[in-house]
Amino acid sequence: MKISEILKNKKVTLSFEIFPPKKQEAFESVKQTALTLSALKPDFISITYGAGGSTQSNTSDLAKTVQDSGTVSLAHLTCVRSSKESLLQTIQLLKQKKIENVLALRGDLPKDAFEGENLFPSGLFHASDLTELLKEHDFCVGGACYPEGHPESTNRDADIQNLKHKVESGVDFLTTQMIFDNDMLYSFLYRLQSAGIHVPVIAGIMPVTSASQVSRMVDLSNAYIPRKLLSFCDRFRHDNEAMKQAGIAYATDQIIDLISNGVRGIHIYTMNKPEIAEAIVKNIDSIIKAVNRREN
Ligand code: FAD
Repeated sequence: MKISEILKNKKVTLSFEIFPPKKQEAFESVKQTALTLSALKPDFISITYGAGGSTQSNTSDLAKTVQDSGTVSLAHLTCVRSSKESLLQTIQLLKQKKIENVLALRGDLPKDAFEGENLFPSGLFHASDLTELLKEHDFCVGGACYPEGHPESTNRDADIQNLKHKVESGVDFLTTQMIFDNDMLYSFLYRLQSAGIHVPVIAGIMPVTSASQVSRMVDLSNAYIPRKLLSFCDRFRHDNEAMKQAGIAYATDQIIDLISNGVRGIHIYTMNKPEIAEAIVKNIDSIIKAVNRREN
C-alpha cells in the first residue's frame, strides 16, 4: 500500500525507522528487530540506505522482510556518489520486491571525497531530481525536511524555497529531522503553510536513552537540545535503566503534545532498539486509537 493512502485515511499515524547492519553477520539480528517492530503494528517501517557504510542491498531486503510480515515499508534511497545505472538497478530491485514507497534523499556529502571527485555521476544533484526519477517509476515518494534548517543551507528561507521545489517535483509527504523541542516544529509548520507547502509532515522523534547519544545527535543534526533533556542526561548518565526510563518519558511527553496540537504523523527513530519503541507504544496507543476513532 502507498503511504500517501494511509496518510489520507488516518488521523494519526505511527511509524518507525530502522537501519541495516554495518556487518553482514548482523543481518539476521536486524531482521529480528524488524519483525519485533512489525508486531507492534505501526503504519509503516522505514529502512535507511547506505548511511554508516551498510550494504545497500540490505535496505531492500529488510524492506521486503517488513512487507512480508504484514507492515508497509518505506525504503530510503540516496543519489550522492551513485551512477544512473546503479540507481535504476536499485529501482528495479525495489519493483521486483513490490516495495511501493521510497524516501528520496540526496545523502550527506562524503567526508572522504577527493579533490575534483564528481559526487553526482548520475546528474541527479538534489533529492528533488531523484524524486522526479522515482515518480517516473510510479513510487509513492517521501522527502526529508529540517525544521531547524539544513546544515548546508545559507538561511531558512532559501531552505524552504528548495523544499518547495522538492515537493513540486512530486514528494507526497515529508519526514522531519529529529526534533527535541516541539515549538521548533510548530513554527516550521507555520512557515510551510505560508510558503504554500501543503503535503503531510511526519514528525521525527528520537528517544534519548543514553547520554553519549546527545553529543552524537548534535553533531549529526544540529538540533536544539532543550535544558530539560540536558538535565536528565546529566543527572542519570551513569545509570542505564534510569536514562532509558527518562528518555522514554521525554519522548512520550513530546508525542502527546504533538498529537494534542494536531500533528498527524509520528515517526520514531528506534535506533534498532525495539524495547524502547514498545515502551513508547504502550504509553500512547490508547491516545492514537482514540484520535483515529473520532469522526473529526
Ligand atoms: P536535498 O533535499 O537535496 O537538500 C540538501 C541541501 O541542498 C539543502 O541545504 C537544500 O536546501 C539544498 N538544495 C536542495 N535543492 C536545491 C536546489 N535545487 N538548488 C540549490 N540548493 C538546493 N542519509 C543517508 O545517507 N541515508 C538515509 O537513509 C537517510 N535518511 C534520512 C531520513 C530523514 C528523515 C532525514 C531528515 C535525513 C536522512 N538522511 C539520510 C540524511 C540526509 O541524506 C542528509 O541530511 C543530506 O545532507 C540531505 O539530504 P536531502 O535529501 O535532505 O537533500
